[in-house]
Amino acid sequence: MTANLLDFDLEGLAAFCERLGEKRFRATQLFRWIHQKGASQFDEMSDLAKSLREKLTVTATIRGLGIISQHISTDGTIKWLFDVGAGDAVEAVYIPESDRGTLCISSQAGCVVGCRFCSTGHQGFSRNLTVGEIIAQLWFAEHFLRRRLGTEERVISNVVMMGMGEPLLNYEPLVRALRIMLDDHAYGLSRRRVTVSTSGVVPMIDALGHDCPVALAVSLHAPNDAVRDGLVPLNKKYPLRELLQACKRYLAFAPRDFITLEYCMLDGVNDSCAQAVELVSLLGGMDNAVHWCKVNLIPFNPFPASGLTRSPRGQVAAFAKILTDAGIVTTVRKTRGDDIDAACGQLAGDVQDITDVQKRMLRRRTIKLNPVLEFDRMVTEDSVHG
Ligand code: SAH
Ligand code: SF4
Repeated sequence: MTANLLDFDLEGLAAFCERLGEKRFRATQLFRWIHQKGASQFDEMSDLAKSLREKLTVTATIRGLGIISQHISTDGTIKWLFDVGAGDAVEAVYIPESDRGTLCISSQAGCVVGCRFCSTGHQGFSRNLTVGEIIAQLWFAEHFLRRRLGTEERVISNVVMMGMGEPLLNYEPLVRALRIMLDDHAYGLSRRRVTVSTSGVVPMIDALGHDCPVALAVSLHAPNDAVRDGLVPLNKKYPLRELLQACKRYLAFAPRDFITLEYCMLDGVNDSCAQAVELVSLLGGMDNAVHWCKVNLIPFNPFPASGLTRSPRGQVAAFAKILTDAGIVTTVRKTRGDDIDAACGQLAGDVQDITDVQKRMLRRRTIKLNPVLEFDRMVTEDSVHG
């Protein structure tokens, strides 16, 4: 089988070039063509010798992912569902803001952790994504958006590993993909603008600190082990105290001077004022985490199988006030792309029945496209629907 060049970081590509009897520096040229220019055909690569292009045509491909659907929200958020074969699909979401463009990407098809409030978790685990499958989400989205916006400038400035899957349980491919994101010959993203979100795989938090420190977000969701055990089953293996100690250790390597703690607000489960007070004392008692953590309160995106509901707005505000009054920097996540279920895991949960998804999408003011090459048409349709 031919090698998929999306699987290689620069070092891997250099080794591949050597195997072809080429100088290592050719890898840099090739890498730039693929990631900076979005090339998918070797004959586009005009400054590579014809003999090399011919060798590449025989031994390699640049193979992205098939697209099952694309939905564009009225607020500009775009969600793609990618086909990763054997009935599995993963999603990526682009969220435009005035000062940045964020892409949320997936690391696994399904997830083994099985959090109660997460629709990915309810699907179970299918498999790890390869480096190429992780990076293909960024490669596709970046170059699609440049074409759509008619620019050669970078569009995606931030990447968050907050799509499907637990990134730290797919560690080696994750780190290689992160290195491609950070590489100046590829996407050149700053470490501060690439975030790994984890449900708390403690040993792998330490490993990431050594191997590829990027911004870290930890899915806390509870002020004590009893509540967290019921929401994030991994807590039984790595309880809160150990998790927060790992966060503290990570700070020594982190590109930012804080760790983000994500807290999904679930009505009557983890959102009471007493639980906010408990969270303050948990963080206060942990090496003064009050000063090196930021708490991000996330409105829950409900799905029927969870049996859970979103906390009322007023309760989120009251919870936030208790944290803020205690000196904890607290933000409430804005919901984006609500009309297209753009939150993580929401669409793929329905993928078993694509027909249903199609019917549902038709009822919405969104566009669904099957073939990858219909983008130009989409721009016109979008201006009608948008
Ligand atoms: N597995 C990693 C990263 C993917 S989940 C993790 O758990 O951190 C990314 C974020 O989305 C996590 O904070 C997760 O708790 C949150 N999340 C999952 N399902 C959600 C839902 N239905 N509503 C709101 N947030 C959700
Ligand atoms: Fe997996 Fe994260 Fe969902 Fe938990 S919240 S099931 S760790 S993807």
